[in-house]
Amino acid sequence: MLNVKKVLFLLLLPLLAIGCFKASKSRLGEWMQDDGKIKILSTTAQVGDLVAAVGGDRVSNWVLIQGELDPHSYEIVKGDGEKLARADLIFYNGLGLEHGAGLSSQLKGTHKAIALGERIQEAYPERILLREDAVDPHIWMDISLWKEAVPSIIEELSSLDPEGTSEYCERGEALMLQMDEAHLALIEKMRKIPSEKRYLVTSHDAFHYFARCYLANPGEKSWEDRFAAPEGLAPDGQLSPVDIQGIIDYLRAHKISVVFPESNVSRDSIRKIASAGREMGVEIEICSEPLYGDSMSHLSYLEMMRQNGDVIARHLALENDCEGALEE
Ligand SMILES: [Zn+2]
Repeated sequence: MLNVKKVLFLLLLPLLAIGCFKASKSRLGEWMQDDGKIKILSTTAQVGDLVAAVGGDRVSNWVLIQGELDPHSYEIVKGDGEKLARADLIFYNGLGLEHGAGLSSQLKGTHKAIALGERIQEAYPERILLREDAVDPHIWMDISLWKEAVPSIIEELSSLDPEGTSEYCERGEALMLQMDEAHLALIEKMRKIPSEKRYLVTSHDAFHYFARCYLANPGEKSWEDRFAAPEGLAPDGQLSPVDIQGIIDYLRAHKISVVFPESNVSRDSIRKIASAGREMGVEIEICSEPLYGDSMSHLSYLEMMRQNGDVIARHLALENDCEGALEE
């Protein structure tokens, strides 16, 4: 017998999708209007989350690169010019993340755009990673490093809106405390996985900061070996047979058999690896749950980091029969 509620829900789905699109358009319409609040444009959701937490109801924040879009290759589309012009202040990740030519030149060409990554690099150059002579822009994957973006947000908002300074400071400090707690909880969770099993393979090169911070042991010199990915810093590279072989050798060397897809990256690469592995008699499982690297879907920034830790712990633990890492 047909479930009437289910049928009604399926019939309503297209209307719901149109509704969501309209809601998003009308939220953008509201953001473009003059409502007495400071207009902030954040390029990514990871940036936008911090800005919204510090700014509270004194600011009106809009995220330019939404949903599952790839921030590395994002290019300006119709309407973006107006958003960039409308914003009183623009915050972006920087360190080469937003490298689409049009967007990159717009960001670099205006004094009102603040590169949070460059600010962090200036203050803590030794904490920024280089990959094959390019700066690794995925700094949000280490919560303790991403936290260092908060003082710049407080400073910039306060300079634009001096009356709100005490509010920005208060909210920023509370956010930093929350980030400290989440950082320590994630370290604790990952350390429950035995050290010899703490090796990670994902779709693209987003997890080096994560590996250094959460997979390696304190002071570990060979921490770089904790993570491997078939695709380079941007998820639009081409996968060569040498790359595939490299990942299979890595999996074999560390006796791991699970690879993790990322929510906004095509699974083609890891499927190729799994199939090449099978041909060589190496069993490789593609994890059923994706990790969040460049995009965070509907999650908040801290939820995204927590979710990544849970998925990694759950699947490495299942694989290795390690009950401790499964505990909440
Ligand atoms: Zn990336």
